[in-house]
Amino acid sequence: GYGGLPDRDGKVTLDACIMDEFGNSGAVMFLEKIMHPIKVARLVMEKTPHVQLVGEGALKFALQNGFKQENLLTPASEKAWKDWLKNSKYDPMTIPKLLQQKTVKDGRGQEHNHDTIGMLALDAAGNLSGACTTSGMAFKMHGRVGDSPIIGAGLFVDNEVGAATSTGVGEEVVCICGSHTVIELMRQGLSPEEACKKTCERIVHKRGEKAKELQVGFIAVDRSGNFSGYALQKGFTYAVQTAEGSKVYDAKSIF
Ligand code: ASP
Repeated sequence: GYGGLPDRDGKVTLDACIMDEFGNSGAVMFLEKIMHPIKVARLVMEKTPHVQLVGEGALKFALQNGFKQENLLTPASEKAWKDWLKNSKYDPMTIPKLLQQKTVKDGRGQEHNHDTIGMLALDAAGNLSGACTTSGMAFKMHGRVGDSPIIGAGLFVDNEVGAATSTGVGEEVVCICGSHTVIELMRQGLSPEEACKKTCERIVHKRGEKAKELQVGFIAVDRSGNFSGYALQKGFTYAVQTAEGSKVYDAKSIF
């Protein structure tokens, strides 16, 4: 939400989805001006007969439920967009690199170089759930939606098997039903790490040399709390919080 990088028209458009242990799901896509889109996704799941609401309809639903419209384009994000406009080159690989070099400060002084958060939870009763939320690929086309709010792509939870979520170039994840693939591989007996790795390998298999120019990462957890992550490129980290504390892990990568 706030501080996320805008699309090529300078608009911050947000995507989010959520899934619980019963397979109930909710998602919003191409939602503007709402600080926490995941809360709206949750209400879609809890209060409507639908799974997905998009654009103006999602905004109308949010406003009806008491959310306020806010400007999410911070001065730092606006500056990054204006700098980008000078060349207007959309390159999913160099944009994250650029942002890693120059972290963007939001209005609260927090630094960001990434706009997607995928979260998986295993509760004390052994039930799994998950959520994924993003402002999407920086400088995307207006109206573009990636993997993050698509159940099965950016997030999938099967309480009998595990939960998985993704980040990176959403188009690549959508085309292999990424998070669902991770869970199906785990259902066949693979560990979270093997399943995330094999799913990354599908992208490599499909894209060949071009995969070296792409970043995609998955994290997964199974019912017993075994977890892992895997990415195409180095530099993908994920955090794990348990009763013992929290720890950041470097995911293994294909390249
Ligand atoms: N997966 C997100 C998308 O394609 C972007 C990201 O993870 O940075 O919208």
